[in-house]
Amino acid sequence: MDVYKNLPGINCRKCGVDTCMAFASKLIERAATPADCPPLDEEKYASKKEALIKLLSPPVKEVVIGSGERAVKVGGEEVMYRHELTYFNPTALFYDVDDTMPAEELQKRVREIEGFGVEKIGRILRLDGVAVRCKSGDPTAFGEAVLNVVETTELPVVLCSYDVEALEVGAEIAIDRRPLLYAATPDNWEKVAELAVRHSLPIAASVPGDVQGLLELSRRLKDAGVEDIVLDTGTAPLGDGFAETINNLAILRRLAIEEEVPEAMYPLMGVPMVSWLGSEDEVHAAYEEAAIAASQIMRYCDLLILHSTEIWSNLPLLNLRLNIYTDPRVPVSVESKLYEIGNPDESSPVFLTTNFALTYFTVASDLESAKIPSYVLVADTEGLAVEVSMAGKKITPEVIQDIFKRSKIEEKVKHRKLIIPGVSARIKGELEDATGWEIIVGPKDSSQIPGFLQKNWAVA
Ligand code: SF4
Repeated sequence: MDVYKNLPGINCRKCGVDTCMAFASKLIERAATPADCPPLDEEKYASKKEALIKLLSPPVKEVVIGSGERAVKVGGEEVMYRHELTYFNPTALFYDVDDTMPAEELQKRVREIEGFGVEKIGRILRLDGVAVRCKSGDPTAFGEAVLNVVETTELPVVLCSYDVEALEVGAEIAIDRRPLLYAATPDNWEKVAELAVRHSLPIAASVPGDVQGLLELSRRLKDAGVEDIVLDTGTAPLGDGFAETINNLAILRRLAIEEEVPEAMYPLMGVPMVSWLGSEDEVHAAYEEAAIAASQIMRYCDLLILHSTEIWSNLPLLNLRLNIYTDPRVPVSVESKLYEIGNPDESSPVFLTTNFALTYFTVASDLESAKIPSYVLVADTEGLAVEVSMAGKKITPEVIQDIFKRSKIEEKVKHRKLIIPGVSARIKGELEDATGWEIIVGPKDSSQIPGFLQKNWAVA
């Protein structure tokens, strides 16, 4: 209601929905912004617009790192616990390279980071960026490494050095990539702040193990004109100090969301690659790194810097991140379109199902394992499963006509037969009228499709 009260209340429909109340819901769900309501630009609504923007600003500021399609947003969170609403921006995972690596080795690693991908529920889980470390202590060598990275990949970068001169050289080279400067400390913050303000870049503020010191540094950076800050309270290796790391992250997020302490209202970051410091056992270091990262993903970290690109250490992290940052209000869905299983031809059967991810993948997997080349028309049922879609009247003649038209299925097969899920039998007549096709009621369970086809497809 607070959001609604600050809209014009004239139901003009210029935002694409019928009422200001409906638009208020879209604003709350972040499916729209105040800029989508043109009347708010009128002078008489200026105070409402200002109040609205303030009201809708998340307690944790959203910070953009990178540019273009691969840019990442970190922070922007509204709640402590996902079930209270949802989490919005998944923890961004950055992987290190350093300026003592031979150029070709560095390029190879950057390509490995960029090319890493694991498919899960129809989406590709990827790594997000490259953290370039100034290990040499030489700003010139650092600049060359940064140049090598930005020429090799479009991924966002974090520039890592406490030496302001090195950061300056790196920032000049990667300026179009909007890099995160890591890090401002109590010793160097004035010069790093001046660099960030000059180029409008985000800064990581780092004060390991000292929450009050970190808040003080955050306040100074803000007073110096820095808009985008990421907070680093330090990452201790696994052991006694790590409990404090986790506690500090929780304290900072609580201060931001529950107490709205301005200095704490920024994204949080961690550096799980501390597990590699002084370690000679690579497997153990990667194992510890994954354990640290998992805890930090669970404890509000919006950005992590890691070293291991092993599939076995990253797979659990990517799955954990996917699970935590999946919106619990929205069913997991796949794109509504025509899917081909195997190499179907013009005589292959055509199945209809819904775009609830588990429904689609169950049907597709049953068809694949039975080696049945076929077409699967996935209707847009707003991510609902077949039975729920039937109950909620989501499988309608209009929805089916829509997927027929978009998929151009009539150009792909000679026959005119559509197999629908067994639980949809009661809309057989409606679908025949809508499509002009023969509608065949299939089995209730897709595991029975092979036997069903043997009996019905050849003679149908
Ligand atoms: S454009 Fe603005 S005033 Fe018009 S209906 Fe939408 S929210 Fe209301």
